[in-house]
Amino acid sequence: MGYMGLVKNPRASKDTFLQMLHCNATTINTPLESNGLYLALKAVELNSDLQILNNAAVQFDTDLPEFRTMSGVTIHKDGRTVTAPVLMWVKALDLLLDRLKIAGVDFSRVASLSGTAQQHGSVYWQKGVHQKLQSLQPNRFLHDQLRDAFSLADSPIWQDSSTTEQCQQLENAVGGPEKLAEITGSRAYERFTGSQIAKVYQTKKAVYNNTERISLISSFACSLFVGDYAPIDYADASGMNMMDLKTKEWSPQILQAVAPDVEAKLGTPVPSYTNIGPVSKFYVERFGFNPQCRVIAFTGDNPASLIGMRLKTGDIAVSLGTSDTLFLSLRQPKLILEGHILSSPIDKDGYMALLCFKNGSLTRERIRDSCVEGSWKLFNELLNSTPRGNFGNMGVYYDIQEIIPSVKGDYRVNKANVQLSKFNSKEIEVRALIEGQFLGKRAYAEDLGVSLGENTRIFATGGASNNSAILQVLADVFNSPVYTLEASNSAMLGSAYQAKYGLVRSDTSFAEMTQNLPPPVLACEPSRDANEIYAPMVERYRALIKNITNQK
Ligand code: ADP
Repeated sequence: MGYMGLVKNPRASKDTFLQMLHCNATTINTPLESNGLYLALKAVELNSDLQILNNAAVQFDTDLPEFRTMSGVTIHKDGRTVTAPVLMWVKALDLLLDRLKIAGVDFSRVASLSGTAQQHGSVYWQKGVHQKLQSLQPNRFLHDQLRDAFSLADSPIWQDSSTTEQCQQLENAVGGPEKLAEITGSRAYERFTGSQIAKVYQTKKAVYNNTERISLISSFACSLFVGDYAPIDYADASGMNMMDLKTKEWSPQILQAVAPDVEAKLGTPVPSYTNIGPVSKFYVERFGFNPQCRVIAFTGDNPASLIGMRLKTGDIAVSLGTSDTLFLSLRQPKLILEGHILSSPIDKDGYMALLCFKNGSLTRERIRDSCVEGSWKLFNELLNSTPRGNFGNMGVYYDIQEIIPSVKGDYRVNKANVQLSKFNSKEIEVRALIEGQFLGKRAYAEDLGVSLGENTRIFATGGASNNSAILQVLADVFNSPVYTLEASNSAMLGSAYQAKYGLVRSDTSFAEMTQNLPPPVLACEPSRDANEIYAPMVERYRALIKNITNQK
């Protein structure tokens, strides 16, 4: 699942905003294609100044061992079907609220709450549950009352890759992958919800017919709080391959290809900051919530991370983890085949782009190990001993088939663009790797329409963001200052900020609302000659990739 947040009422100084994290992810800004795991359900309470007051967590595998999940999921025999028990999430919520209470949260002071969950997964509510949701009894556990609420006990989640056939059908229905990406922001992906729903319809007709409502994991969690089916928000809906990104309506062509009568089961999507309604009576009576406490739409974890990082248009977030990811806000959607365009969670007319690079830290570790036997310190010494531009040498290193560009293998060229089988020093190898990784990111960011300028800021997160030698290269290649962010709770904080934003947005902008939060920490400034050196190298990088692709 994801995260939730509760927030204190800004007008009454004693009230709080509670942000609750719904599923807990070890990687908070879990990229759509990364290996982020959702091990728990977490929550945080913020005061009206958005400072953290309390938090709590429930670990799925250890706190709820009866569901026998590993890292919160069940991998089926075929190795491609990956699910999670819905009731485990419900039970985790019961437990989480108890833990929050023990941690000292006074629910009566919570002004609003919101949440976030792993993207793409879907929940199937059984016919007739609508009424049950509205009349939950406060003296009984939620999981006890919702035991029979789901037509599908095991929800398909983002790790599932069993719907290749249905992906093909969706792309064929609209005229190919490019057309699907143009409509929805992404070509068909197995984990995206459209193909998952189509699979349920095709392989489990009785389940499909017995389903009253289909939620994303985010809107499912939100439904539990409002005691009614909560709408899917635009940002998370962008991870379904079903919503027309421009009109924010379900695409009729796609709906038809997914399954009959699916529109009625999905409801109408809403802007991500929508104030949906008061918390249900169940929470008022069982946990002492204030009946005025509002529930703001829940969203996916990637959009919530964007909120948590407080990215402005022009900012670029670079996560340097197992995989590297790059995400940013956009005013206009851009057609990309390898990457994702989503509706912005804080501006219904804005967009965000998300690109994933599979060859991130593991590739950096391989070159580190081959050059300096595992020491980042020595790696950095080599990196710092070579000049910007690496004497004209350049390299790209892809241990596994990369997404963008679709290339595998190591390629090195010298100043004259002649391909080399190896460089003649370790220093050059190390710098070529790091420069090559960032030149690619800059090239693809520019392809998205980003124009680097005086106001561009780079936000670095992930394991390698504590390496200042690597960050200096990042600053130089992008010719922009690099700031570091504590990413480990950006999605959770993002949904807490959303809890407040959903309440106050008619009076204040998101930027104003968050202006008193501590500013990001400046890690590196670009060197004076950075643009002179790297602008031409980006063009050489493009030529190199073109050359490699043509050779294949
Ligand atoms: P994940 O994406 O799995 O959550 P993290 O963001 O925690 O991963 O990043 C883990 C990676 O960070 C490790 O693979 C490691 O190579 C890298 N890392 C950790 N410390 C450093 C460092 N000082 N310099 C470069 N990379 C580092």
